[in-house]
Amino acid sequence: MVDRLANSEANSKRIMVVEGCFGTAGQPLAIPGRVLIGEGVLTKLCRKKPKARQFFLFNDILVYGNIVIQKKKYNKQHIIPLESVTIDTVEDEGDLRNGWLIKTPTKSFAVYAATATEKSEWMNHINKCVADLLEKSGKSPSSEHAAVWVPDSEATVCMRCQKIKFTPVSRRHHCRKCGYVVCGPCSEKKFLLPSQSSKPVRVCEFCYEQLSAGQLSGGFSSHLDSFGRSPSKFSANNMSDDDDDDDSSD
Ligand SMILES: [Zn+2]
Ligand SMILES: [Zn+2]
Repeated sequence: MVDRLANSEANSKRIMVVEGCFGTAGQPLAIPGRVLIGEGVLTKLCRKKPKARQFFLFNDILVYGNIVIQKKKYNKQHIIPLESVTIDTVEDEGDLRNGWLIKTPTKSFAVYAATATEKSEWMNHINKCVADLLEKSGKSPSSEHAAVWVPDSEATVCMRCQKIKFTPVSRRHHCRKCGYVVCGPCSEKKFLLPSQSSKPVRVCEFCYEQLSAGQLSGGFSSHLDSFGRSPSKFSANNMSDDDDDDDSSD
């Protein structure tokens, strides 16, 4: 991770360069008051396997993208508002070391740094940025976050029924509530999770029961959306139902 650029002119220039690296498909990044805190390559645990991604930490957003040409060209830009981010350390396991979770209401995932020092730098800087933003806005830290998806490779059989073996025909699905890898029959139902989507999303049988029970006991009610067949099943948005958007073209 590169240290903070003290000189604000140097910082603005660097932000323009970063913006340029994403090309016209990226969002404008140079806005008044924005500071680039640091940048570096992190390994992001995606649905299929860990992948190198270029990350940029600004004082208000976290940006990442696929590396087309190292330090020159990135694509598939993702922008995460830091205000809704919470992070948690991940214990080292095998080759996956120096990791932590980046959790947001819409999407949560694990990333890994090359060294323990880099990890603590990233985590400290992210925590500091989030704390500063919350202090400024007077908001409280985000309490709800999307499930971290269990990678496909960690499940050869359905994590709910423990019976169905995954094959090219019997596909893996992810429950949006618990993140488990589950079979089709165990995840036939959808439920409205407003922080993740305006349409009902795939949940496993277990989570569906829990969510429905919560509803009946006086929680948020959305019977129209969560019961019966949803028209969204046939919408264009649903074509890539289970794709991790990072990976859909790989
Ligand atoms: Zn199952
Ligand atoms: Zn579930």
